[in-house]
Amino acid sequence: MMHSSVRRALQKKQAQSNIDSDQQAASSNQAPQRYLPRLELSKTGQTEPVCPYCQMNLDQMPKETCNCPTCGEEIIVMKRPKDRAVVLVNDQEAKQLNNEWEAYNERRDPYLREKGAHAINLEYSELWDKLGREPTLKEIKASFLNKDNTKPETRHADG
Ligand SMILES: [Zn+2]
Repeated sequence: MMHSSVRRALQKKQAQSNIDSDQQAASSNQAPQRYLPRLELSKTGQTEPVCPYCQMNLDQMPKETCNCPTCGEEIIVMKRPKDRAVVLVNDQEAKQLNNEWEAYNERRDPYLREKGAHAINLEYSELWDKLGREPTLKEIKASFLNKDNTKPETRHADG
């Protein structure tokens, strides 16, 4: 009787120390609940010399924005982020590609890249809980900046 209770106490102590080390591991290697989705980029636009309005074949691929010789509409020449292809787009498609470029550049923000995917996903999960909706990348960045600014400064004794 005495013997088994001592053993149980020892086991309990051992289990306790395991929990302590698990908790330490968990805090330094916390898993995000949600993951920022991959950025979806489209293959919007004509890579062939075809008018994006009337679909008529053009003599050659225009190098810059011009008017279609058939329908007279303005053909916009731009690069798309998906594959950097030069494409011919109409007004609507140009807006779509501009939005994609904006989102693409936002993802490439050096400050966010420095934080890394893991920290971004943690922040994304945390903000989602806080806001009750998917946070924007701007909000994630603002939250990081806010945390960086309120971090207690490590003081150095000088002199
Ligand atoms: Zn046309």
